Amino acid sequence: MDALPILDSHIHLDPSGDPNRAVQRFMDAGGTYLIIVHKPYKRVPNLDISEYERAFRTTIEMKGLASDLGAKADCVVGPYPGDLPYQCEALGADRALELQLSAVGLAMDLLDSGEVLGIGEVGRVHFPVAPEMQNLCDRILLKAMEGASKRRAPVVLHTESLSSNENLMAHLGDLCDKAGLSRERAIKHYSDPKTVRSAFAVGLSASMLCRKDFLREMLIDGTYPLLETDYIDDPSRPDVVLPPDSVPKKVRWARETGLLDDDAQYELMVLAPRRIYGIDTIDRS
Ligand SMILES: [Zn+2]
Repeated sequence: MDALPILDSHIHLDPSGDPNRAVQRFMDAGGTYLIIVHKPYKRVPNLDISEYERAFRTTIEMKGLASDLGAKADCVVGPYPGDLPYQCEALGADRALELQLSAVGLAMDLLDSGEVLGIGEVGRVHFPVAPEMQNLCDRILLKAMEGASKRRAPVVLHTESLSSNENLMAHLGDLCDKAGLSRERAIKHYSDPKTVRSAFAVGLSASMLCRKDFLREMLIDGTYPLLETDYIDDPSRPDVVLPPDSVPKKVRWARETGLLDDDAQYELMVLAPRRIYGIDTIDRS
């Protein structure tokens, strides 16, 4: 039998970083499949829908680059919620809201054309803002979830942490229900074990930073979140959040230490991605 697949469920590749090297490092360590997530590629937020259009295209190009190097790859695109406060400042709240809603519409078009797998990262602002700002975020997120639900597509969630909002998971679950989106298709990214448990408790999915301590805790527990690096491919912050080869390296470590066997890896890397993203990680064609 071929070696089991290894998926990084949340990585960023940036043309102004070194995307070739990142993908190569991932593959050299044994990685097979990447979910490439849109990121703001410029230091200043988009103020115009044509800028979103170009930026989403860049993410699709990064998917092409990864496939050309021999990795399996999909991508998700959506307006980054952390940009909203700056867009509100520059454009006023109404136009900023309208802009992000249009960007969600653009992402839906790309879903329909089959160029992207899902929507993300979308959600809420992760730094302290007024409640009105998070309400605007929720309106954008709800629209993203409604569109994703119609298309049976996954939604990658970027939000504030549990420690700043203990009601977070219940709130996200409510939004899914309002939008008619299966809770399992909503993925709380940047999770630690506590966040994973709290997402799973309400039926949401979670993607966890692939750190040794986190992975050990989850595997001992028999809990299987998606695993991610959230690598940002920014030369001024090398190997942030985690190096691009972390998922294959940590999976190998977990196998060597007996924390992970074939069955558990199959659940982690084949069944969970199939359920949540609707992807086939086994097929190498
Ligand atoms: Zn990210």
